[in-house]
Amino acid sequence: MAATRKTTGAAMPRPSQLLLGMHYTKTVSFDEERARTVFREVGDRYRMGVGFFSGVRRIQPQHLYTPAELKELGGLELANWFFFLSISQRGGLNSDDSIRLTRAVWDRRPDLFNPPQAAALSPREIRRAILGVAAEFYPKISGATGGGSLSFKLREFARHWRLNAAALDAHWGGDVRNVFTEPRTFEEYFLLIDRGSQKSPKQNPRGFYGMRRKIFSLLIFWLIEFELVSYFRIPLVVDFHVLRALIQLGVLQVNWKPLGRGNPKIEARLRPRALRQYPAVHVHETLINQVIGWSCDFLIRENLSPFDVGNGLWNLSRVLCASYYGNKSESVRRFDPEARKWHNVTAKLVNSAKLNRVSAWPKNYRDLCRYCPFERYCGLAIPAGPYYDWGQNVNAGEHVVYPGREATLGGIPWYDLPINLTRRRNNTVWDGRLPKATVIGKKTREKNLPTDQLTLTTRRGRCLVR
Ligand code: SF4
Repeated sequence: MAATRKTTGAAMPRPSQLLLGMHYTKTVSFDEERARTVFREVGDRYRMGVGFFSGVRRIQPQHLYTPAELKELGGLELANWFFFLSISQRGGLNSDDSIRLTRAVWDRRPDLFNPPQAAALSPREIRRAILGVAAEFYPKISGATGGGSLSFKLREFARHWRLNAAALDAHWGGDVRNVFTEPRTFEEYFLLIDRGSQKSPKQNPRGFYGMRRKIFSLLIFWLIEFELVSYFRIPLVVDFHVLRALIQLGVLQVNWKPLGRGNPKIEARLRPRALRQYPAVHVHETLINQVIGWSCDFLIRENLSPFDVGNGLWNLSRVLCASYYGNKSESVRRFDPEARKWHNVTAKLVNSAKLNRVSAWPKNYRDLCRYCPFERYCGLAIPAGPYYDWGQNVNAGEHVVYPGREATLGGIPWYDLPINLTRRRNNTVWDGRLPKATVIGKKTREKNLPTDQLTLTTRRGRCLVR
């Protein structure tokens, strides 16, 4: 089951991260030679729009869904939009959906993005506002419980929204850009806004809730990208996709342990027996912090742009890796009799040992990995399902090159051909009137589609691209 890793050179010794306030455990290491090769190429390709990256820069969700009037206005309003938007990006969620929904919340309730006004609301009012917009946005979900992409711990999220608005108003003049007035490093800025243990709110009254290093790096990423804050050295934004790309491509080595049964409070969420022996790594904050700390240091040493490298890896994983057949999973529905609620849990992964035969692959398989310039480094498969269900990256086996792949005409590598694919078929902004435009499994031909889009694989009506 364990994948064979193709590495070049030994993993480099861990750099001293104590200056950044970081600590490495013995369970992770980084292959810096591999990182140097992959980061340079992925950064260049993203910046220059080569091959798969052709046109990708234009359709990043933060560009598509940020209100045009805010972009024109810039300044305080735009900065605070990104502040509240970044806090919505917690938990395992789809960035496109959650950013579109947050945009819809802004359309309906711009006062929630104004710190003094949001601070004057109760968490209950904020939660109801989000639920009301979600009920319009997702017409099939009951407005009573469904917050759509923002459902995860919605009560806590609404409480944090108000507390953060109050902290921003009371300690930062209502403007998140004031955090960055003096030149500091990423880690020093983080210490300014770190709440510490969220159980003790008085620890740092200027700090923000629900904002650990991952979300903070995302916020800074956007603030710099939209020229709201001067450029300084930042790490990669380490979410599931960047982490998956780093592990699959052999940049990051982790300590795999059997997935096991887990110990969920809800029995319906137990890990199915068929998956328990798969090697897995828990994506906890310590792991994320170690990758953030290393990447910050490495990008500075190598003089690489976190924007080009981060965007390159993120798009690679969410579009190409997501389409790789070995990264698919199937789920089952289980009923929780106490809460009278159904749960979907991942139940089956693709058996990579059988993939050396074309007949084991789906008919008309699109083989998008041929557009990946790094397939020679890709060692294993990491499906998204277990991460979104249990916060576990599961090693589903070796990466297998599609045996039915055809040669290109003229000998140009597939990965140098522009293909115009995105993760989402319909990256249009909700106009506040139509129901959600994306229809899984049916072709939609809307105007204003930014590009031809990837057909999602479905099985018995269920989406297999998570
Ligand atoms: S070969 Fe495929 S699965 Fe592997 S990194 Fe490239 S796109 Fe992702």
